[in-house]
Amino acid sequence: MSDYILSKSTFIRGLQCYKSLYLHKFRPYLRDKISEEQLAKFARGHAVGKVAQQLFPGGIEMSRPGKPSAVKTAQLITEGYPVIYEACFISEQVIVALDILVRQDNGYAAYEVKSSLALSNVYYNDAYLQYHVIKGSGLKPEKFFLIHRNGETDMAESSALHEKFVFTDVSAECEEQDLQISPKINSMLEVLTRDKSPDIQPGKHCMKPYPCDFRGVCWKKISQSEQDELMQG
Ligand code: SF4
Repeated sequence: MSDYILSKSTFIRGLQCYKSLYLHKFRPYLRDKISEEQLAKFARGHAVGKVAQQLFPGGIEMSRPGKPSAVKTAQLITEGYPVIYEACFISEQVIVALDILVRQDNGYAAYEVKSSLALSNVYYNDAYLQYHVIKGSGLKPEKFFLIHRNGETDMAESSALHEKFVFTDVSAECEEQDLQISPKINSMLEVLTRDKSPDIQPGKHCMKPYPCDFRGVCWKKISQSEQDELMQG
């Protein structure tokens, strides 16, 4: 059996809808075609992540998330390596890859970078999960920061790197939420043991926080006017 079943993105998917989580895992071919807009968003996220790495230069980057990266990350932490990009952790059958892990006097601080101009609930939930998994793997982050783009400066401008980003310390919230995470993980893992997808009807949750990419199959059951209503929120 694999060391992990869930990831950051599948956890966020599961928070939105168990059926979407199930279909993503077992019927990925039913997913709607990815839009140009989404592809551009992924590319922007990747580019901003690369710029943000320079906030903490000289780090070593883990290759794609997986057991070898988690083993390597653990080894570098044991050796006290100062900066690790895409630091990988596995616990409770969940894998996460943290954007930047930075050694401090008293431990390590975690930094997760978002390419948006503001923080949303999704980003907080992402931080809560990562904090929980990192802690579960044996490293309690001393601090957890979400970083997002500063809307008052342009990424292309030659202003100081720190001015391009806004740092939000979410350590206290991560600790507060920590006990809530295991039950959520366990519920999702249970859904993924079922032999058919959960019977969840389309509703407002299909569009929030993200438009679900299984609407093409799932919304066939509802009328066009109902679809229009859901689209309008
Ligand atoms: S379309 Fe709606 S009900 Fe269907 S899987 Fe997606 S979120 Fe769930």
